[in-house]
Amino acid sequence: MLMNDLSKHLSPYRGRIAAAQSRVLDRAWFIMGPEVAEFEKQFASYLGVHECRTVGNGTDALELGLRAVGVGPNDTVATVANAGFYTSTAISAIGAQPFYLDVNRQTKVVELTEVQRAIGEGATAIVVTHLYGQAVPDTLEIAQICKENRVWLIEDCAQAHGAQLAGKMVGTIGDVGCFSFYPTKNLGALGDGGAVVTNDENVAAQVSRLRQYGWTAKYQVELPGARNTRMDEMQAAILQEFLPLLDEWNQRRRDIAKQYNTHIVHPGVVLPNVGAADYVAHLYVICSTQRDSLSAHLRATGISTDVHYPIPDTLQPVFAGRFAHVHLPITEQLASETLSLPCYPAMSDADVVKVADAINAWSYSPA
Ligand SMILES: *Cc1c(COP(=O)(O)O)cnc(C)c1O
Repeated sequence: MLMNDLSKHLSPYRGRIAAAQSRVLDRAWFIMGPEVAEFEKQFASYLGVHECRTVGNGTDALELGLRAVGVGPNDTVATVANAGFYTSTAISAIGAQPFYLDVNRQTKVVELTEVQRAIGEGATAIVVTHLYGQAVPDTLEIAQICKENRVWLIEDCAQAHGAQLAGKMVGTIGDVGCFSFYPTKNLGALGDGGAVVTNDENVAAQVSRLRQYGWTAKYQVELPGARNTRMDEMQAAILQEFLPLLDEWNQRRRDIAKQYNTHIVHPGVVLPNVGAADYVAHLYVICSTQRDSLSAHLRATGISTDVHYPIPDTLQPVFAGRFAHVHLPITEQLASETLSLPCYPAMSDADVVKVADAINAWSYSPA
C-alpha cells in the first residue's frame, strides 16, 4: 500500500483535467494570464481574504511573504524546527537570522509561550506552521501579541488548506498566509505552485513585484531582492477544477484519521488528536519510541510509511553545528518517534482497517 496513491486520487478527474489543459492550449497564453487571475480570485474568495498572489511554489511563497512585509538580513525570524526546513530555506535566502521554537508534545505545533519567548529575544517576524493539517490552536492569541509588539505574523498553511479556527480559515489570521500546491498537498496541482494571501494591499503589491523581477512596470526594475517565481496557466486552470472539491477531500481525510483513532489500539503507539474543522488531516502521524521497528513491521506487511521529519532544522548538516547550542527537547524527541501512515482521500475504509490491524498485530519490546 502506498503512502499516497495520486494515480487513484486523480483518476475520477481526468476528464476535467484534460478540459482545463485544452482551454489553456487553445488560448496559447501560458504565463500570467486569465487562469492565474481567476484562480487567485477564487482562492481568495474561498479563504475570505482580500488578496491572493500565486507564485512558483510554497517555499517561494514563504520567502516572498517575508520579504513583502519588509524582512531583511538584519531581522530575526522565529519558527519551529520540526516542519521540514522549508521556512529555514526561505529565511536563509533572505539572509535573516532564524530563531527556533519548540512545539507542544501532543499537538506537535508551536504554543503561545514559545512565541512570547521569541518576541522577548527580539524576533521581528514569526512563522507559525499549521503542521500535518493541524491549525495551531493558539494562533488567535499569537496574532494578538504579535500586533501588540509590532511583530509580523506569517502562517505556513502548506499542509492545512481549508483548516479553520473560530470560523476563520488558516492563512487569514496573521498578516500573511503562505500556501503550497505541490501535488500531494490537500489542494495539489500537477506540478509546482504556491500562493501568498493577505488583507494588506501593499503587501500583495510587493509580492506582485517580487515574483516578477522586481518590476514596478514592464521592464522597469525597481525592487531589490526580487525573483522570477510564477504559477503557470496550466496549474492555475487545473487548480480551479480542484478547489471546489477541497472541502469534500478534507472531510474524507478527516474520516480516515478518525477511523485510525478508533481502530488502532496498541500500548506502544500514541495517537494524534483528531479534531474537527481545525484539522484537515494532511498527514496522520502517530508516535512510538520503537518507531523504526514499527515501520519495518509495516513495510514487511506491504504498507508504506514515512517520517515527517527525521532531522530537526537545527541539526541539519547545512548548518554545520551553527545551532548545536539550541536545545529543543520535544522537537528532538518527535524526530525519532513520529511515523506518518497512509492518509489520502482515495484511500478505502478497508485499507484503513488493514493498516490499523497490522499495527495492532505488531509485537514490540517496551524500552
Ligand atoms: C510542502 C511544504 C512547504 C513548501 O512547499 P513547496 O511547494 O514544496 O516549496 C512549506 N511548508 C510546509 C509545512 C510544507 O509542507
